Amino acid sequence: MLTQNQIDGVIAFHGHHCPGLTFGMRIGDWVLNEFGHATDEEIVAVVETDNCSVDAIQYLVGCTFGKGNLVFLDYGKNAYSFFRRSDDKSCRLIMRGGLLQDLREQQEKLNANDIAGRKQIHQQMIDRILQADFEKIFSISHAQIPMPETARIHPSQRCDCCGELVMATRLLNDPVLTGGKNLCIPCRNIHHKEI
Ligand SMILES: [Zn+2]
Ligand SMILES: [Zn+2]
Repeated sequence: MLTQNQIDGVIAFHGHHCPGLTFGMRIGDWVLNEFGHATDEEIVAVVETDNCSVDAIQYLVGCTFGKGNLVFLDYGKNAYSFFRRSDDKSCRLIMRGGLLQDLREQQEKLNANDIAGRKQIHQQMIDRILQADFEKIFSISHAQIPMPETARIHPSQRCDCCGELVMATRLLNDPVLTGGKNLCIPCRNIHHKEI
């Protein structure tokens, strides 16, 4: 169970309380129990969505973009994988769906200016997410992908086109694709259009 302090902290971090954030709180609470907190980089999250839920995971679990232990895959799925480096423990959570179906249908029928009605359904959604059995919300399995590599700092090099400094591993130099130049990703995309 999350403490009121943790819940308040998540809401302050995200900026508002919403159903998506509440799903993230349930995930964060579960991961803290199963994997612990990522003070450094020992726990890695790979998220397949960039919706509100991910803010709760960042805040509660300590998997953040800046530390490099939060990896975003733009797949549009409510799926979340977690890895612990110390013992190779891993899991993937995928949302089963349907939990809020009836409430979403009710919400759609509401008049756009029925603010009180919308607020009430919003709160019902949040309450239902908080009270549901975790395994009713998410299906739990082993991670389907290998553990991501440890975040490393690579030296920067200049792109031969825009002249900006770029992490060396993000530059491409190919005799055909870039004409032998070191090109950053956006310059490479422009170059491609010209061919
Ligand atoms: Zn939100
Ligand atoms: Zn460039």
